[in-house]
Amino acid sequence: MKKYRVGIIGATGMVGQRFILLLSEHPWFDVVLLAASPRSAGKPYYEAVGSKWCMEKPIPENVKNLVVYNATDDIEEISKQVDFVFCAVDMKKDEIRALEEEYARHECPVVSNNSAHRHTPDVPMVLPELNPEHIEIIPSQRKRLGTKRGFIAVKPNCSLQGYVPALFPLDEKFGVKDVLVCTYQAISGAGKTFDTWPEMIDNVIPFIGGEEEKSEKEPLKIWGHIEGDVIVDSNRPNFTAQCLRVPVSNGHMGAVFARFEKKPTKEEMLEVWKDYKGRPQILNLPSAPKQFLNYFEEDNRPQTKLDRDLEGGMAISIGRLREDTQFDYKFVCLSHNTLRGAAGGAVLLAELLCAEGYMD
Ligand code: NAP
Repeated sequence: MKKYRVGIIGATGMVGQRFILLLSEHPWFDVVLLAASPRSAGKPYYEAVGSKWCMEKPIPENVKNLVVYNATDDIEEISKQVDFVFCAVDMKKDEIRALEEEYARHECPVVSNNSAHRHTPDVPMVLPELNPEHIEIIPSQRKRLGTKRGFIAVKPNCSLQGYVPALFPLDEKFGVKDVLVCTYQAISGAGKTFDTWPEMIDNVIPFIGGEEEKSEKEPLKIWGHIEGDVIVDSNRPNFTAQCLRVPVSNGHMGAVFARFEKKPTKEEMLEVWKDYKGRPQILNLPSAPKQFLNYFEEDNRPQTKLDRDLEGGMAISIGRLREDTQFDYKFVCLSHNTLRGAAGGAVLLAELLCAEGYMD
């Protein structure tokens, strides 16, 4: 099979580093180009990233000496050298929107981790196991941008990647009505480690800017449908969220309360989770977990440290399902925020786009 030439925009950041590790032995993708801010441009990667490298493994040899490009000034050159880019940059939203559109207009597809385009109506926001059909909006987006190949596809926020996968498959049979969720989010979600954010040791911060709005609003686009040239958000289920930052390196936990149109039994819910297969499992995509939703019977599972890396950090863990006094049920869920919730989710989305012919 042909290998795709891939660029990483924001390669020196936390998510960029994850991309580099995940793609170092990828069967379909070859990382041939790295780009970051003008601060890093022109330097070999190992020097540009320097002490910011915070992955558990050393910098892979294939990228160590690549000279970093300027993500904003070198768009034309970058677009010539790659088949598509992954993008994860820390810039202002309007700058990111313009940057990603510029790559797309240069006929370079963008698979993005950034939130800037999540609510652009013709940009698909895809969690590949749940709403893969939303990529069918891409021809409409290409028409608007005036491109043949170029487009933008995004993945949703990391905070929702436990509770939305758990609830979405239940909706068809039982109608999810109201959802209350509290998230307990790792510090890597802010691009930080305990070295760079020592204030988080022995601490909880009850505020993450913009996170509650994303956690309540983004699920409605995932639940949405294509109508003409746009994706129309659903007006249900009702979501309310509180998002807390907790002293954990990786892994977002969620405590979920849910009410249904037609209350299922506990056994029916467990069966839906056990049997659920999305498009990535059917297509056997390289980064797809074999078992997407995993239920733990033990009272003290899933645990962040024990279970976040399940199936390479791409599987979702669920536990403690029981009836509630105010809602129908409550349960907990766990997802790896920089794998499933960031770089891994974007890689899986890119695999889906390749398998469905959008990168050719
Ligand atoms: P980060 O560690 O702060 O990295 C930011 C990256 O952006 C670096 O490569 C940086 O390059 C680059 N950059 C900054 N200013 C730039 C400019 N003016 N032009 C070009 N590149 C510039 O951030 P992160 O945690 O990786 O997050 C990146 C994006 O992913 C954000 O939009 C974030 O919201 C999103 N995201 C993060 C997570 C997560 O778990 N961390 C999850 C989902 C989504 P230099 O090193 O050269 O400054």
